[in-house]
This record gives sequence, C-alpha cells and structure tokens, in this order.
Amino acid sequence: MARKQYRVEIKYDWCKSCGICFNVCPTKTIVGGELGEPVVPDHSTCTGCLVCENLCPDFAINIVEVKPEGTEKQEKAGVENA
Ligand code: SF4
Ligand code: SF4
Repeated sequence: MARKQYRVEIKYDWCKSCGICFNVCPTKTIVGGELGEPVVPDHSTCTGCLVCENLCPDFAINIVEVKPEGTEKQEKAGVENA
C-alpha cells in the first residue's frame, strides 16, 4: 500500500507571512520564500500531520488528501500552453 499523499493549499490572501508554518513543519515540506512567505516546492513529503494547519493563526492552510485513483482533479502536469 502506498502511503497517503497530501497537498498543501495556502490561501495567500489570508497569509501574513508570519513564518510559523515553515518553522514547525517537521518534514520541511513548507519552506520560507524570499519574502518570508510560505512556499511548498514538493508536496509529496507532506505527512498530513496537520501541525501547520492547526497552528496557522490566520487559518490560511488547508491540507488536502490526494486520492491516488484520480478521483480528484489532478494538476495538468505536462500540459503546456493549453
Ligand atoms: S502560519 Fe499561516 S499566516 Fe503564518 S506564514 Fe504560514 S500560512 Fe502564512
Ligand atoms: S501537514 Fe505536517 S508535514 Fe504537511 S506541510 Fe503541514 S506541518 Fe508539514
């Protein structure tokens, strides 16, 4: 059984770049960007622990489980200039 996969959704309209999420993330899935904003270069390392979601003071993070069967709309990987 493959382990569960998650996607880290950040509402940048609500985020104030306080840095809590990328300082508490145990897997460093969320890292700090150039302007102190949270950035997720690779969602696959997220374990779904929800620490970031629970500690974000602005409720700006939503951890979503990604269904492997493709029941959820997937990102259009590999589609250019569509
Ligand atoms: S904890 Fe929330 S408000 Fe703070 S940087 Fe992360 S997403 Fe933004
Ligand atoms: S759910 Fe856990 S592993 Fe995933 S981004 Fe948040 S703190 Fe990191």
